[in-house]
Amino acid sequence: MKYQKIDMTHLHLHSTFSELDCISKIPDIVKRAKDYGHTSIALTDHGTIAGVPQFHNECRKQGVKPILASEFYMQADANQSKADKNRTNHHLILLAMDDEGWTNIKKLTTKANEKFYYAPRIDYKDLEEHSNGLICMTACLKGIVPWSIVKEKYDEAAEHAARFKRIFGDRFYLELQDGGLDIQIKINDVLRRMAEKMGIPIVAAQDAHYVNRDDVEGHEGIWAIRTRNTFDDPIGYGPRDDLPEGTRQRPYYSTREYWLKDGHHMLNESLTTENDEQRMSTLRQSELEESSKIADRIGDVFIEKRMHLPKYEFIPDVSQVGCSAADECVPQAHYHPGDVEKGKTVDLTSFNYLCELIMKGFEKVYERSWFDRTNEHRERLARELLDIKDAGLADYFLIVWDIVSWARSMDIPVGPGRGSAAGSMVSFCLSITDVDPLEYGLIWERFYNAGRKGSLADIDVDVGKRFRPLVVQYIKDRFGEDRVAQIVTFNTLGTKAALKDTAKIIGKKDGMPYEDANVMTRFIPLKHNQPVSIKEAIETSDRMKEYSEQYPRLFRIAQKLEGCPKSRGIHAAGVIISDEPFSEGFPLRWNTKEKMLVTEWDMSVMDELGYLKMDVLGLKTMDVLWDIEKAINGEDNG
Ligand SMILES: [Zn+2]
Ligand SMILES: [Zn+2]
Repeated sequence: MKYQKIDMTHLHLHSTFSELDCISKIPDIVKRAKDYGHTSIALTDHGTIAGVPQFHNECRKQGVKPILASEFYMQADANQSKADKNRTNHHLILLAMDDEGWTNIKKLTTKANEKFYYAPRIDYKDLEEHSNGLICMTACLKGIVPWSIVKEKYDEAAEHAARFKRIFGDRFYLELQDGGLDIQIKINDVLRRMAEKMGIPIVAAQDAHYVNRDDVEGHEGIWAIRTRNTFDDPIGYGPRDDLPEGTRQRPYYSTREYWLKDGHHMLNESLTTENDEQRMSTLRQSELEESSKIADRIGDVFIEKRMHLPKYEFIPDVSQVGCSAADECVPQAHYHPGDVEKGKTVDLTSFNYLCELIMKGFEKVYERSWFDRTNEHRERLARELLDIKDAGLADYFLIVWDIVSWARSMDIPVGPGRGSAAGSMVSFCLSITDVDPLEYGLIWERFYNAGRKGSLADIDVDVGKRFRPLVVQYIKDRFGEDRVAQIVTFNTLGTKAALKDTAKIIGKKDGMPYEDANVMTRFIPLKHNQPVSIKEAIETSDRMKEYSEQYPRLFRIAQKLEGCPKSRGIHAAGVIISDEPFSEGFPLRWNTKEKMLVTEWDMSVMDELGYLKMDVLGLKTMDVLWDIEKAINGEDNG
């Protein structure tokens, strides 16, 4: 068959953020779309949009239009099915056509996590409320429409399709896939008939879980990690007579057709079926070309990046806060309310209040009158305050001051100031830190780089470990439960873990004993105290090169798994304080272990999007110091 270029766009595919179900790295996905000559591509991870910001950046970089999307988990009624202890869920593809659609995807992600039951799940009611700007596709055979067909409940399938059509109108599509499964032939036939009868358009999709055809062994690897099997276990699940008793089966896909194909391979190449036979794809060219028409309906959606610094709203008796404090503190600059009219973004109320606090605080920490300050004090404070004013950071300092003073007033142990924040006299005067930067020759510029206008400086606050939850709760009470969230972390398979986990799953034929794998990882060279990548280890260490030659398959698979997120945790220190309710800005994710909603996006993304991150670290040593101090003072330490 002559190679045929098909006009198409991938609207259904996964990245490593579909944890333990996909090994496609985002840059590789986008590059592949580009190599195919596709002008746009979607990312539809399972129940998450964690990878969307990176995907968006990567697409912009490589000049492909990103389609922001997700493959949601759904139930017809999520609350009811939770009450029924029904763990199953269906899949549904939603693609953002415009800004409103993107906002709805974020809101639906949070809703799904509020209704978390073994997975984040939305339902019809959520879709009815948030359908604007979205294109909807029925997803894989686990979609609610295809699944009804699998169960031979054809009326139900039609009812669900009608319901989606009522919600999304002409933005609803029946999705066809062919990954070589027998059942897909039947599903596709029924969907085609439904489409004709009900006047619903159809589109073909690939549902890719790895980029290259050969990557299937890496994908099997991530699944073996997921199900805690080894490659020695036969693929399959459910009762089987042909296996010796006690054989552990390894759940995995029934075919190996889930790579990121181009149109030619999707339509014109034969597929290997679940019975290891060959048959032609049942998808049609017009069905695949519909994907390109859908992409044309989708506009350029940008992920908004701006400073999300909250305003400090707790300034007492605003009418009393005039210009005098600022004039006193920064005499070389004249401030008056007219600055605001001239288009300056400075908030004089916050800035003046900050200056007032500094005047008071100065007298306390230096134990001398404000009018007795030396030239050094004057110059230093003026320099810091000018920078703070210029960068619009007054509110930030007020927020940190508020939190630290509350903690101190509650007798919660607070650290003397860690890192570069100790180089700030403003912080010292506000008692955010306990260190006089003049006395120790600490410089302001290390804390605040005046060139980085608009970016947030970083003040780390240490508190006693057992008091940290109290401090976080205070921040929520003070700045709004709907604006404060802790931050997710992704536990990613690093060099060592990738090699060791692969050694565990690869089985006897190609594997090395686990103890040997443990020893091997000691030969991985370090760079800046971190193990280098597997590729670099092979290139730079003779020992690692020998290992890689002795165990090629292990190394091949480990390199595919390297960098894949394995699980999620919560950042030990970071707390986001947003200027608006997070329903407007960023999605939340349910953390099953800690039983709380945290950000869906990690720290680097939140930082890039301009959110204020407070670092409140709980330190055990501070608990101990606190206990000792109380014991010495003869106080009850509770
Ligand atoms: Zn699916
Ligand atoms: Zn999928």
